[in-house]
Amino acid sequence: MKTGIVKDRRFLNHTMGEGHIENPGRLEAIYSALEEENVPPYVELPPRPAEEKEIAFIHSPEYISQVRSTAGKPSVQLDPDTSTSPLSYETALLAAGSLLETADTIMAGSGIQNAFALVRPPGHHAEKSRAMGFCIFNNIAIAAEHLIQKHGLKRILVVDWDIHHGNGTQNAFYHRKDVLYFSIHQFPFYPGTGLWGETGQGEGEGYTINVPLFPGKEDADYVFIFENMIYPLASEYRPEFILVSAGFDIHREDPLGGMEVSDRGFGAMTHILLNTAAEFSQNRLLLTLEGGYSLTGLQEGVLAVLEQLAGNGSKPEIEKDLSVGTARELSQVFEILSDYWPIP
Ligand SMILES: [Zn+2]
Repeated sequence: MKTGIVKDRRFLNHTMGEGHIENPGRLEAIYSALEEENVPPYVELPPRPAEEKEIAFIHSPEYISQVRSTAGKPSVQLDPDTSTSPLSYETALLAAGSLLETADTIMAGSGIQNAFALVRPPGHHAEKSRAMGFCIFNNIAIAAEHLIQKHGLKRILVVDWDIHHGNGTQNAFYHRKDVLYFSIHQFPFYPGTGLWGETGQGEGEGYTINVPLFPGKEDADYVFIFENMIYPLASEYRPEFILVSAGFDIHREDPLGGMEVSDRGFGAMTHILLNTAAEFSQNRLLLTLEGGYSLTGLQEGVLAVLEQLAGNGSKPEIEKDLSVGTARELSQVFEILSDYWPIP
């Protein structure tokens, strides 16, 4: 199995000012880890900028022109946490476009079955008409819509393991069933959305699943959710493609997040998703980088994911069992899930 990686130094061209936690150093740390010896083999996939009409799958024309108007300007504040630099617009187009190009490569079935887009700016908070939480364009939502419009897919599973709820992605598909959005996130926490009761509306009812969790969750908790919620859900939904908002802010060393996931946890989660994709989705699995603010956490986490994607890893052993506290929190989610899905 061949794994594709998107990495390009042009993603370092977007900056939000001195001291901002979402900075080019994050990708520099990951890219330098990929230079080390013993990195699992991968094929580098060249990115391309998204066209504005592709960005418009998700975003309003007014918002796109607002972002376009920042090009070349020193800095424009788009949201309390999100600002631009002269090349941000160009970089945001490249981030979204790299997912589209990679999705096309996977769909072509020419040997690359899974891939990881190591890009920035991240995307899952970006709403139809506004930037939010370090995100400018919603890369993963644009990719999902591209798979539907260009490739005619009818069922896409988006797994969002970033510590923050992906409000932008949820809202983009809240009334639809062709994208099943599944998010695990710390709660209460930024951005404040993602409660159990948010399950979609109309045709989309039951196609948004939120797993809000108190901080302190470990590998075993995440693995339990992947095995007992995501896998059975996929076996019912039968996604034709799995997209992942991979945030490494659940890493135990992350300065923003309160979760305790280790490299073994990232490996195990990826292992389960690979098996899920092999069983139901013709191996089609595309991850994109969202958050993650510990440089060590990013390096360890990305390498653990890559090890699995390259087909080198058995599933890492997770020693601990689910805690009583987690079981209690998850029982609420199971109750809601059972309203829509025949999951034991
Ligand atoms: Zn995040």
